[in-house]
Amino acid sequence: MDPPADEMWPESFPPGMVGVMKTRVLVLGAGFGGLELATSLSEGLGDEVEVTVIDKNDSFVFGFSKLDVMFGRRAAEAVRLPYCDLAKPGVRLLRETIVAIDPEARSVTTDAGIHEADFLVVALGADYDMDATPGLAEGGNEFYSVAGAERLAGLLPEFSAGRVVIGVCGAPFKCPPAPSEAALLLHDYLSARGVRGDCEISFVLPLPSPVPPSPETSAALLAAFSERDIAFLPGIQIGSLDPARNVALLDGGGEIPYDLFLGVPKHRAPDVVVASGMTTAGYVPVDSETLETRFPGVYAVGDVATVGVPKAGVFAEGAARVVAASLIARVRGGERPGAYDGLGSCYVEFGSGRVGRVDVDFLSGPKPTGAFHEPSAALVAEKEHFGSSRRARWFGR
Ligand SMILES: Cc1cc2nc3c(=O)[nH]c(=O)nc-3n(C[C@H](O)[C@H](O)[C@H](O)COP(=O)(O)OP(=O)(O)OC[C@H]3O[C@@H](n4cnc5c(N)ncnc54)[C@H](O)[C@@H]3O)c2cc1C
Repeated sequence: MDPPADEMWPESFPPGMVGVMKTRVLVLGAGFGGLELATSLSEGLGDEVEVTVIDKNDSFVFGFSKLDVMFGRRAAEAVRLPYCDLAKPGVRLLRETIVAIDPEARSVTTDAGIHEADFLVVALGADYDMDATPGLAEGGNEFYSVAGAERLAGLLPEFSAGRVVIGVCGAPFKCPPAPSEAALLLHDYLSARGVRGDCEISFVLPLPSPVPPSPETSAALLAAFSERDIAFLPGIQIGSLDPARNVALLDGGGEIPYDLFLGVPKHRAPDVVVASGMTTAGYVPVDSETLETRFPGVYAVGDVATVGVPKAGVFAEGAARVVAASLIARVRGGERPGAYDGLGSCYVEFGSGRVGRVDVDFLSGPKPTGAFHEPSAALVAEKEHFGSSRRARWFGR
């Protein structure tokens, strides 16, 4: 039976496209969202469409791998998944840097030329704004990029005594549990080296609790901090660092001394997205059900978009699946897919090889909720599968 007319897309193809040319989908960014989108489109449409994915890098790295690199558990080279391994029917991946986006014309300029599309999906993630926290670049270390994590892998073995401050410099930031994980893993790391007793660890966060939508997860993390003598300082906004005096200066007045500052920089949409005129209040607003922007045929998924969910890969992936289903329906003239559900599960490293999980639901109720699952051996295996299943799905290995 044909779907009712109001559940059909008003136009399946842009005028003049039927039977003449393949529909062209341009995916900006081959991160969590872009990779899932390209994979889903290839599965659904094969080479019926022409999917071009553009990324400036040569490889993908899972966010959680940065903690592995920082604490010397894995080498940076070992966690890179090269894009040359991505081989999907109908998909080509170009290594180019995007320098301009015209959402009205659905065209994109890169350092190599101009690309035009029938449908454009912006999946360019969030960038780090080191300059927004004066002194951070000179006096601190960030662990949110592969380069930063690699630098710390070289520095941490030299650190044997003193005050470590893990400081989140602004919200929203990627993967809200990650700084808590960093504090707990740092405790393990220093303990294994026999120097924990000579070090103080403080964790400074602008939010009121480690994982605000999940009081249970927050309580479990606070208990873990307390057992390990990690000082948790919530609701504090770090304004700048003074590297000459080794202090973090707080917006509300006061300062926190440090010998080693491990920072999460403020985030912002990439400059090229801001310059395109697509952003409001820093990020790209989208329809929370369809992920479409105010520009027809232009979608945004993942960290670059404002959809009321946290900045995490699992949400970028869920959003990408909805956009892929929409595009498949638009190309084939099928039913509109269901709305984006805003559901996602995040694994939380508690240290000592233990992993918990929080299942968050951001959109279905009046306020976000997060069900906590206690750390267990089964969740260690589940987290491992989370990574390996995506690696196999996207990269075939
Ligand atoms: C320490 C840490 C731990 C994390 N742990 C988890 C976790 O356990 N689970 C989880 O779900 N998430 C986790 N995350 C968050 C997760 O990594 C991000 O939220 C996710 O990658 C966002 O996906 P995205 O597709 O929006 O953007 P990204 O994955 O960041 O991809 C954006 C892509 O756009 C490209 N790009 C940007 N600008 C340009 C340009 N001008 N030209 C060309 N290409 C460009 C980039 O190279 C990049 O490949 C973690 C993050 C960190 C930092």
